[in-house]
Amino acid sequence: MPSRPGCPGRSRVRSAPGQAGLPGVQGALATLARDVIDLACSSQADSVRRCEAHGRVRLFVRDHARRRWCSTCGDRVRAARHQRRVKEQRRATAADA
Ligand SMILES: [Zn+2]
Repeated sequence: MPSRPGCPGRSRVRSAPGQAGLPGVQGALATLARDVIDLACSSQADSVRRCEAHGRVRLFVRDHARRRWCSTCGDRVRAARHQRRVKEQRRATAADA
């Protein structure tokens, strides 16, 4: 990802002495923090959106203009839409018989 002007970018962000390769929760949080810095400093920062699914607080990078949900919620929406169509087709077929 190209770095935005004024952002240090990952190459300029370093761990404190003695804290590289932290285990457990601290290591996971350090990785998360570096990834957030990378995203915030990237050209994709302006594409970060909040998932529109009810009750969700997830963020995602919108990669096309019509995207409204994170990948998990998008999968659920598509599965529910498919199930609704299958039920409607079964009802229509049963009504014709
Ligand atoms: Zn979502």
